[in-house]
Amino acid sequence: MVERIYLDNNATTPVDPAVLGEMMPYFTEKFGNAASRNHAFGWEAEEAVEDARKIIAHELNAKPREVVFTSGATESVNLAIKGLCEASDGKRKHIVTQVTEHKAVLDTCKEMQKRGWEVTYLPVQEDGRVSMSAVADAVRGDTLLVAIMHANNEIGVLQRIDDIGKLCRERDVRFLVDAAQSFGKLPIDVEAVGIDILAASGHKIYGPKGVGFLYVRQKNPKIKLKIQMEGGGHERGMRSGTLAVSLIVGLGKATELIADKRDKENARLKHLRDTLLEGIRTALPDTVVNGSIEHRLPHNINFSFPYVEGEALLMKLESIACSSGSACSSATLEPSYVMKALGHSEELAHSSIRVAFGRFNNDEDAEIAMGEIVRAVKSLREKSPVWRLMRQKKFS
Ligand SMILES: *Cc1c(COP(=O)(O)O)cnc(C)c1O
Repeated sequence: MVERIYLDNNATTPVDPAVLGEMMPYFTEKFGNAASRNHAFGWEAEEAVEDARKIIAHELNAKPREVVFTSGATESVNLAIKGLCEASDGKRKHIVTQVTEHKAVLDTCKEMQKRGWEVTYLPVQEDGRVSMSAVADAVRGDTLLVAIMHANNEIGVLQRIDDIGKLCRERDVRFLVDAAQSFGKLPIDVEAVGIDILAASGHKIYGPKGVGFLYVRQKNPKIKLKIQMEGGGHERGMRSGTLAVSLIVGLGKATELIADKRDKENARLKHLRDTLLEGIRTALPDTVVNGSIEHRLPHNINFSFPYVEGEALLMKLESIACSSGSACSSATLEPSYVMKALGHSEELAHSSIRVAFGRFNNDEDAEIAMGEIVRAVKSLREKSPVWRLMRQKKFS
Protein backbone atom coordinates (compact mmCIF):
# COMPACT_ATOMS: atom_id res chain seq x y z
CA MET A 1 0.00 0.00 0.00
CA VAL A 2 1.19 3.52 -0.82
CA GLU A 3 1.92 5.56 2.28
CA ARG A 4 -0.64 8.30 2.48
CA ILE A 5 -1.15 11.13 4.91
CA TYR A 6 -4.27 10.26 6.86
CA LEU A 7 -6.71 13.18 6.82
CA ASP A 8 -9.94 11.34 7.48
CA ASN A 9 -10.13 11.59 11.26
CA ASN A 10 -13.92 12.01 11.23
CA ALA A 11 -14.26 8.48 9.84
CA THR A 12 -12.01 6.94 12.43
CA THR A 13 -8.78 7.70 14.28
CA PRO A 14 -5.67 5.61 14.86
CA VAL A 15 -5.29 4.21 18.37
CA ASP A 16 -2.93 6.41 20.38
CA PRO A 17 0.14 4.37 21.42
CA ALA A 18 -0.48 5.38 25.05
CA VAL A 19 -3.99 3.95 24.77
CA LEU A 20 -2.71 0.71 23.27
CA GLY A 21 -0.09 0.44 26.01
CA GLU A 22 -2.79 0.70 28.65
CA MET A 23 -4.90 -1.95 26.92
CA MET A 24 -2.22 -4.58 26.27
CA PRO A 25 -2.06 -6.23 29.71
CA TYR A 26 -5.82 -6.80 29.54
CA PHE A 27 -5.33 -9.09 26.54
CA THR A 28 -2.66 -11.11 28.31
CA GLU A 29 -2.00 -11.48 32.03
CA LYS A 30 -5.02 -9.43 33.16
CA PHE A 31 -7.53 -11.43 31.14
CA GLY A 32 -10.15 -11.88 33.85
CA ASN A 33 -13.91 -11.64 33.36
CA ALA A 34 -15.18 -8.50 35.07
CA ALA A 35 -18.20 -10.50 36.22
CA SER A 36 -16.13 -13.15 38.03
CA ARG A 37 -16.73 -12.48 41.71
CA ASN A 38 -14.67 -15.27 43.26
CA HIS A 39 -11.07 -14.42 42.48
CA ALA A 40 -8.55 -11.68 41.86
CA PHE A 41 -8.62 -12.12 38.06
CA GLY A 42 -12.22 -10.97 38.10
CA TRP A 43 -11.70 -8.21 40.66
CA GLU A 44 -8.80 -6.78 38.71
CA ALA A 45 -10.86 -6.66 35.51
CA GLU A 46 -13.85 -5.17 37.31
CA GLU A 47 -11.69 -2.47 38.87
CA ALA A 48 -10.26 -1.53 35.47
CA VAL A 49 -13.77 -1.25 34.02
CA GLU A 50 -14.95 0.87 36.93
CA ASP A 51 -11.94 3.17 36.57
CA ALA A 52 -12.83 3.76 32.91
CA ARG A 53 -16.46 4.38 33.87
CA LYS A 54 -15.37 7.02 36.39
CA ILE A 55 -13.21 8.82 33.84
CA ILE A 56 -16.08 8.98 31.32
CA ALA A 57 -18.61 10.06 33.96
CA HIS A 58 -16.26 12.78 35.16
CA GLU A 59 -15.80 14.05 31.61
CA LEU A 60 -19.58 14.46 31.26
CA ASN A 61 -20.29 15.69 34.81
CA ALA A 62 -22.33 12.50 35.26
CA LYS A 63 -22.37 9.66 37.80
CA PRO A 64 -20.44 6.47 37.01
CA ARG A 65 -23.63 4.38 37.25
CA GLU A 66 -25.10 6.47 34.43
CA VAL A 67 -22.51 5.11 31.95
CA VAL A 68 -23.39 1.88 30.09
CA PHE A 69 -20.67 0.28 27.96
CA THR A 70 -21.64 -0.89 24.48
CA SER A 71 -19.95 -1.90 21.22
CA GLY A 72 -20.03 1.66 19.84
CA ALA A 73 -22.19 4.65 19.11
CA THR A 74 -24.44 2.74 16.70
CA GLU A 75 -25.43 0.25 19.38
CA SER A 76 -25.77 3.06 21.92
CA VAL A 77 -28.18 4.96 19.67
CA ASN A 78 -30.23 1.82 19.02
CA LEU A 79 -30.48 1.14 22.75
CA ALA A 80 -31.42 4.75 23.42
CA ILE A 81 -34.16 5.17 20.82
CA LYS A 82 -35.67 1.69 20.80
CA GLY A 83 -35.19 1.35 24.54
CA LEU A 84 -36.90 4.65 25.33
CA CYS A 85 -39.82 4.06 22.96
CA GLU A 86 -40.42 0.52 24.13
CA ALA A 87 -40.23 1.46 27.82
CA SER A 88 -42.73 4.29 27.40
CA ASP A 89 -46.43 3.93 28.17
CA GLY A 90 -47.36 4.41 24.50
CA LYS A 91 -49.11 7.76 25.04
CA ARG A 92 -46.30 9.71 23.45
CA LYS A 93 -45.53 8.27 20.05
CA HIS A 94 -43.69 11.15 18.40
CA ILE A 95 -39.95 11.66 17.85
CA VAL A 96 -38.23 14.83 16.61
CA THR A 97 -34.88 14.56 14.85
CA GLN A 98 -33.18 16.27 11.91
CA VAL A 99 -32.10 15.34 8.42
CA THR A 100 -28.29 15.41 8.79
CA GLU A 101 -28.13 12.94 11.68
CA HIS A 102 -25.85 9.92 11.29
CA LYS A 103 -27.52 6.84 9.79
CA ALA A 104 -27.43 5.23 13.22
CA VAL A 105 -30.11 7.72 14.29
CA LEU A 106 -31.95 8.03 10.96
CA ASP A 107 -32.26 4.30 10.33
CA THR A 108 -33.32 3.60 13.92
CA CYS A 109 -35.98 6.32 13.59
CA LYS A 110 -37.17 4.73 10.34
CA GLU A 111 -37.47 1.42 12.15
CA MET A 112 -39.54 3.10 14.88
CA GLN A 113 -41.85 4.48 12.17
CA LYS A 114 -42.44 0.91 11.01
CA ARG A 115 -43.30 0.07 14.61
CA GLY A 116 -45.93 2.81 14.78
CA TRP A 117 -44.05 5.88 15.99
CA GLU A 118 -44.30 9.17 14.15
CA VAL A 119 -41.03 10.92 13.34
CA THR A 120 -40.47 14.55 12.33
CA TYR A 121 -37.23 15.09 10.39
CA LEU A 122 -36.37 18.77 10.71
CA PRO A 123 -34.55 20.47 7.84
CA VAL A 124 -31.31 22.34 8.43
CA GLN A 125 -30.49 25.89 7.43
CA GLU A 126 -27.88 26.65 4.80
CA ASP A 127 -25.21 26.64 7.52
CA GLY A 128 -26.12 23.07 8.49
CA ARG A 129 -27.79 23.99 11.78
CA VAL A 130 -31.35 23.38 12.85
CA SER A 131 -33.14 26.56 13.83
CA MET A 132 -34.47 26.79 17.38
CA SER A 133 -37.89 27.85 16.15
CA ALA A 134 -38.07 24.69 14.02
CA VAL A 135 -37.42 22.53 17.08
CA ALA A 136 -39.83 24.53 19.23
CA ASP A 137 -42.57 24.25 16.60
CA ALA A 138 -42.02 20.52 16.09
CA VAL A 139 -42.27 19.50 19.75
CA ARG A 140 -45.87 18.56 20.58
CA GLY A 141 -47.82 17.28 23.55
CA ASP A 142 -47.20 13.70 22.44
CA THR A 143 -43.46 14.10 21.72
CA LEU A 144 -41.42 11.55 23.63
CA LEU A 145 -37.94 12.28 22.35
CA VAL A 146 -35.82 14.90 20.62
CA ALA A 147 -32.69 13.38 19.03
CA ILE A 148 -30.22 15.98 17.79
CA MET A 149 -26.53 15.33 17.28
CA HIS A 150 -23.81 17.54 18.71
CA ALA A 151 -21.31 17.58 15.80
CA ASN A 152 -21.96 16.34 12.30
CA ASN A 153 -19.62 13.67 10.95
CA GLU A 154 -19.44 15.07 7.41
CA ILE A 155 -19.44 18.82 7.82
CA GLY A 156 -18.39 19.11 11.47
CA VAL A 157 -21.20 21.58 12.16
CA LEU A 158 -22.29 21.94 15.76
CA GLN A 159 -25.97 21.99 16.67
CA ARG A 160 -27.42 24.22 19.40
CA ILE A 161 -27.55 21.53 22.05
CA ASP A 162 -27.63 24.04 24.93
CA ASP A 163 -30.78 25.73 23.67
CA ILE A 164 -32.40 22.46 22.62
CA GLY A 165 -31.64 20.94 26.02
CA LYS A 166 -33.30 23.87 27.72
CA LEU A 167 -36.36 23.61 25.50
CA CYS A 168 -36.65 19.87 26.16
CA ARG A 169 -36.54 20.57 29.90
CA GLU A 170 -39.26 23.18 29.64
CA ARG A 171 -41.49 20.92 27.56
CA ASP A 172 -40.71 17.78 29.58
CA VAL A 173 -39.38 15.89 26.55
CA ARG A 174 -36.37 13.55 26.65
CA PHE A 175 -33.23 14.72 24.88
CA LEU A 176 -30.80 12.33 23.13
CA VAL A 177 -27.47 13.61 21.82
CA ASP A 178 -25.29 11.64 19.41
CA ALA A 179 -21.91 12.95 20.54
CA ALA A 180 -19.74 10.47 18.62
CA GLN A 181 -17.87 13.31 16.91
CA SER A 182 -17.63 15.72 19.83
CA PHE A 183 -17.21 13.69 23.01
CA GLY A 184 -13.83 14.52 24.52
CA LYS A 185 -13.03 17.02 21.77
CA LEU A 186 -15.42 19.58 23.20
CA PRO A 187 -16.45 19.80 26.85
CA ILE A 188 -19.98 18.52 27.49
CA ASP A 189 -21.80 18.92 30.80
CA VAL A 190 -24.94 16.80 30.78
CA GLU A 191 -26.34 18.67 33.80
CA ALA A 192 -25.80 22.15 32.42
CA VAL A 193 -27.09 21.25 28.94
CA GLY A 194 -29.95 19.08 30.14
CA ILE A 195 -29.02 15.95 28.22
CA ASP A 196 -30.90 12.78 29.19
CA ILE A 197 -29.13 10.26 26.95
CA LEU A 198 -25.82 10.58 25.09
CA ALA A 199 -23.99 8.22 22.76
CA ALA A 200 -20.26 8.15 21.97
CA SER A 201 -17.61 5.86 20.57
CA GLY A 202 -13.99 4.89 21.22
CA HIS A 203 -12.61 4.95 17.69
CA LYS A 204 -13.36 8.62 17.06
CA ILE A 205 -11.12 9.68 19.96
CA TYR A 206 -7.93 7.66 19.33
CA GLY A 207 -9.35 4.67 21.19
CA PRO A 208 -10.18 1.20 19.86
CA LYS A 209 -13.00 0.22 17.51
CA GLY A 210 -15.85 -1.90 18.82
CA VAL A 211 -16.43 -0.03 22.07
CA GLY A 212 -18.55 2.92 23.07
CA PHE A 213 -20.98 3.93 25.75
CA LEU A 214 -24.42 5.32 26.43
CA TYR A 215 -24.96 7.89 29.14
CA VAL A 216 -28.38 7.32 30.68
CA ARG A 217 -29.64 9.88 33.21
CA GLN A 218 -30.62 8.30 36.53
CA LYS A 219 -32.08 11.34 38.31
CA ASN A 220 -34.21 14.38 37.41
CA PRO A 221 -35.66 12.51 35.59
CA LYS A 222 -34.68 8.85 35.75
CA ILE A 223 -34.64 7.47 32.21
CA LYS A 224 -36.06 4.00 31.72
CA LEU A 225 -34.94 1.99 28.71
CA LYS A 226 -36.28 -1.36 27.56
CA ILE A 227 -33.35 -3.78 27.45
CA GLN A 228 -32.25 -4.59 23.90
CA MET A 229 -29.79 -7.35 24.84
CA GLU A 230 -30.95 -10.05 27.23
CA GLY A 231 -28.43 -12.17 29.06
CA GLY A 232 -26.50 -12.17 32.30
CA GLY A 233 -27.71 -8.76 33.49
CA HIS A 234 -24.40 -6.97 33.02
CA GLU A 235 -24.27 -3.18 33.15
CA ARG A 236 -27.05 -2.98 35.76
CA GLY A 237 -29.25 -5.01 33.48
CA MET A 238 -29.07 -2.50 30.63
CA ARG A 239 -26.69 -4.35 28.34
CA SER A 240 -25.88 -7.99 28.89
CA GLY A 241 -22.72 -9.60 27.57
CA THR A 242 -19.23 -10.15 28.96
CA LEU A 243 -17.56 -6.77 29.14
CA ALA A 244 -14.80 -6.09 26.60
CA VAL A 245 -12.40 -5.18 29.39
CA SER A 246 -9.37 -4.33 27.22
CA LEU A 247 -11.46 -2.15 24.90
CA ILE A 248 -13.15 -0.41 27.81
CA VAL A 249 -9.75 0.27 29.40
CA GLY A 250 -8.72 1.79 26.06
CA LEU A 251 -11.86 3.93 25.91
CA GLY A 252 -11.16 5.21 29.42
CA LYS A 253 -7.56 6.06 28.63
CA ALA A 254 -8.54 7.69 25.33
CA THR A 255 -11.07 9.85 27.18
CA GLU A 256 -8.53 10.89 29.77
CA LEU A 257 -5.96 11.79 27.11
CA ILE A 258 -8.28 13.75 24.85
CA ALA A 259 -9.66 15.74 27.78
CA ASP A 260 -6.15 16.52 29.06
CA LYS A 261 -4.94 17.62 25.63
CA ARG A 262 -8.18 19.32 24.59
CA ASP A 263 -7.30 23.03 24.54
CA LYS A 264 -3.85 22.65 23.05
CA GLU A 265 -4.87 20.02 20.53
CA ASN A 266 -7.93 21.94 19.37
CA ALA A 267 -5.88 25.10 18.87
CA ARG A 268 -3.22 23.22 16.93
CA LEU A 269 -5.69 21.37 14.69
CA LYS A 270 -7.70 24.53 14.08
CA HIS A 271 -4.50 26.18 12.93
CA LEU A 272 -3.82 23.35 10.47
CA ARG A 273 -7.39 23.49 9.24
CA ASP A 274 -7.40 27.28 8.85
CA THR A 275 -4.03 27.27 7.09
CA LEU A 276 -5.34 24.74 4.59
CA LEU A 277 -8.57 26.66 4.10
CA GLU A 278 -6.82 29.99 3.56
CA GLY A 279 -4.33 28.52 1.12
CA ILE A 280 -7.06 26.87 -0.90
CA ARG A 281 -9.27 29.93 -0.92
CA THR A 282 -6.39 32.09 -2.08
CA ALA A 283 -5.59 29.75 -4.98
CA LEU A 284 -9.21 28.86 -5.74
CA PRO A 285 -11.39 31.83 -4.78
CA ASP A 286 -14.66 30.15 -5.75
CA THR A 287 -14.23 27.38 -3.17
CA VAL A 288 -17.46 26.75 -1.24
CA VAL A 289 -17.20 25.83 2.44
CA ASN A 290 -20.01 23.47 3.35
CA GLY A 291 -21.66 24.36 6.64
CA SER A 292 -20.99 27.01 9.25
CA ILE A 293 -17.32 27.79 9.76
CA GLU A 294 -17.99 29.41 13.13
CA HIS A 295 -20.03 26.62 14.72
CA ARG A 296 -17.82 23.74 13.74
CA LEU A 297 -15.37 21.16 15.03
CA PRO A 298 -11.92 22.78 14.92
CA HIS A 299 -10.28 19.99 12.93
CA ASN A 300 -12.88 19.54 10.20
CA ILE A 301 -13.37 21.25 6.88
CA ASN A 302 -15.63 20.27 4.01
CA PHE A 303 -15.38 22.05 0.69
CA SER A 304 -16.98 21.95 -2.70
CA PHE A 305 -15.19 23.00 -5.86
CA PRO A 306 -17.65 24.03 -8.55
CA TYR A 307 -17.19 22.10 -11.83
CA VAL A 308 -15.10 19.42 -10.19
CA GLU A 309 -16.42 15.98 -9.36
CA GLY A 310 -15.55 14.90 -5.79
CA GLU A 311 -14.80 11.28 -6.70
CA ALA A 312 -12.55 12.32 -9.59
CA LEU A 313 -10.79 14.73 -7.26
CA LEU A 314 -10.17 12.03 -4.67
CA MET A 315 -8.65 9.80 -7.33
CA LYS A 316 -6.17 12.53 -8.14
CA LEU A 317 -5.15 13.06 -4.52
CA GLU A 318 -2.41 10.48 -4.31
CA SER A 319 -0.60 11.43 -1.15
CA ILE A 320 -3.52 12.18 1.14
CA ALA A 321 -6.44 10.10 2.40
CA CYS A 322 -9.68 12.01 2.86
CA SER A 323 -13.22 11.36 1.72
CA SER A 324 -16.04 12.64 -0.41
CA GLY A 325 -19.38 12.44 1.32
CA SER A 326 -19.29 10.26 4.43
CA ALA A 327 -17.33 7.04 4.75
CA CYS A 328 -20.58 5.14 5.15
CA SER A 329 -22.09 6.31 1.89
CA SER A 330 -19.01 6.58 -0.29
CA ALA A 331 -19.62 2.98 -1.40
CA THR A 332 -22.58 4.32 -3.36
CA LEU A 333 -22.33 7.17 -5.81
CA GLU A 334 -25.37 9.02 -4.52
CA PRO A 335 -24.43 12.54 -3.50
CA SER A 336 -24.27 12.81 0.26
CA TYR A 337 -27.65 13.41 1.94
CA VAL A 338 -25.96 15.86 4.29
CA MET A 339 -24.72 17.94 1.37
CA LYS A 340 -28.17 17.85 -0.24
CA ALA A 341 -29.73 18.96 3.04
CA LEU A 342 -27.70 22.18 2.87
CA GLY A 343 -29.70 23.04 -0.22
CA HIS A 344 -26.86 22.51 -2.69
CA SER A 345 -27.39 21.43 -6.26
CA GLU A 346 -26.56 17.81 -7.15
CA GLU A 347 -23.42 19.09 -8.90
CA LEU A 348 -22.14 20.97 -5.91
CA ALA A 349 -23.07 18.12 -3.58
CA HIS A 350 -21.09 15.78 -5.83
CA SER A 351 -18.04 18.01 -5.71
CA SER A 352 -17.51 17.98 -1.94
CA ILE A 353 -14.56 16.60 -0.05
CA ARG A 354 -13.95 16.35 3.68
CA VAL A 355 -10.58 16.88 5.31
CA ALA A 356 -10.29 16.08 9.02
CA PHE A 357 -7.00 16.62 10.80
CA GLY A 358 -6.06 14.59 13.84
CA ARG A 359 -3.58 14.21 16.66
CA PHE A 360 -0.91 12.72 14.42
CA ASN A 361 -0.94 15.36 11.68
CA ASN A 362 1.53 18.25 11.47
CA ASP A 363 2.07 21.49 9.52
CA GLU A 364 3.76 19.66 6.69
CA ASP A 365 0.67 17.48 6.19
CA ALA A 366 -1.47 20.61 5.78
CA GLU A 367 1.01 22.06 3.28
CA ILE A 368 1.09 18.88 1.22
CA ALA A 369 -2.71 18.62 1.27
CA MET A 370 -3.06 22.22 0.15
CA GLY A 371 -0.66 21.86 -2.77
CA GLU A 372 -2.18 18.62 -3.90
CA ILE A 373 -5.81 19.74 -3.69
CA VAL A 374 -5.11 22.99 -5.56
CA ARG A 375 -3.18 21.19 -8.30
CA ALA A 376 -5.84 18.51 -8.68
CA VAL A 377 -8.74 20.97 -8.85
CA LYS A 378 -6.95 23.11 -11.43
CA SER A 379 -6.05 20.13 -13.57
CA LEU A 380 -9.59 18.72 -13.50
CA ARG A 381 -11.02 22.10 -14.42
CA GLU A 382 -8.72 22.41 -17.39
CA LYS A 383 -10.44 19.32 -18.74
CA SER A 384 -13.95 20.54 -17.97
CA PRO A 385 -15.75 22.08 -20.98
CA VAL A 386 -18.23 23.86 -18.70
CA TRP A 387 -15.42 25.41 -16.74
CA ARG A 388 -13.68 26.64 -19.89
CA LEU A 389 -16.91 28.17 -21.10
CA MET A 390 -17.39 29.97 -17.79
CA ARG A 391 -13.87 31.36 -17.91
CA GLN A 392 -14.39 32.65 -21.42
CA LYS A 393 -17.57 34.44 -20.40
CA LYS A 394 -15.87 36.00 -17.42
CA PHE A 395 -13.00 37.43 -19.40
CA SER A 396 -14.72 38.41 -22.65
C1 LIG B 1 -19.04 7.25 13.91
C2 LIG B 1 -20.35 7.79 14.26
C3 LIG B 1 -21.39 6.96 14.73
C4 LIG B 1 -21.23 5.45 14.79
O1 LIG B 1 -20.31 5.08 15.77
P1 LIG B 1 -19.75 3.57 15.80
O2 LIG B 1 -19.05 3.51 17.11
O3 LIG B 1 -18.83 3.46 14.64
O4 LIG B 1 -20.91 2.67 15.73
C5 LIG B 1 -22.58 7.54 15.06
N1 LIG B 1 -22.77 8.85 14.97
C6 LIG B 1 -21.82 9.70 14.53
C7 LIG B 1 -22.09 11.15 14.46
C8 LIG B 1 -20.58 9.19 14.16
O5 LIG B 1 -19.65 10.01 13.72
